[in-house]
Amino acid sequence: MPIADNIYAINKDLSTSCKLIAVSKRKPSKAIIEAYKAGQRHFGENYIQELLEKKDACPSDIHWHFIGHLQRNKVKYIAPFIYLIHAVDSVKLLKEIDKEAAKNNRVISVLLQVHIAKEETKFGFDIGEITDLLLDNNELATLNNIEIKGIMAMATNTTNSDIVNQEFKQVKALYDSLNKVYPKITELSIGMSQDYKIAMQHGSTFVRLGTAIFGSRS
Ligand SMILES: *Cc1c(COP(=O)(O)O)cnc(C)c1O
Repeated sequence: MPIADNIYAINKDLSTSCKLIAVSKRKPSKAIIEAYKAGQRHFGENYIQELLEKKDACPSDIHWHFIGHLQRNKVKYIAPFIYLIHAVDSVKLLKEIDKEAAKNNRVISVLLQVHIAKEETKFGFDIGEITDLLLDNNELATLNNIEIKGIMAMATNTTNSDIVNQEFKQVKALYDSLNKVYPKITELSIGMSQDYKIAMQHGSTFVRLGTAIFGSRS
């Protein structure tokens, strides 16, 4: 199906509180522009160099999300413009984002990545670490140029929906407990092409879809 048709069909499925991020990694700028013409404004990228090239080639009112693993020495390249950084997985990275945001006279919105999947390879904080960081720690109080907007997670890469369901349920419980204490925490970034319908049942506010919009990646 053409990109535009995929976007219309997905938007029909999404609740009004859930925003669609088109994950355009390893897809050319012309695919992004096709999605843009269908009204899509949130795009997600995983690689810095690729993002910088596409940003220059694409309309300026796109909201760019960085969804990949971010190295501290790369923060400076995206700090001037990034809309939301999803996968923050250390306090050191938070501090670096804060520093670069200050240099650019802006506040950068971030999500903390929570590790829920069975795979060892997935980055992120454990649930307990996030709770400690936000509820018991004043290390964050001095970081005036970041705003922690919520949490992001990836489920285990499996077709077993019971496992995915269980994992998203855990993230949602964490999100609810944080939201009670920090009303600014309003975003829950869960759901990819394979599991976004399950994620929506657990209150996802951002789904990150690549394959479902652009087709499979080479
Ligand atoms: C690639 C990627 C996606 C999109 O994956 P699809 O399965 O193509 O929808 C979503 N989130 C992250 C973090 C990714 O790296």
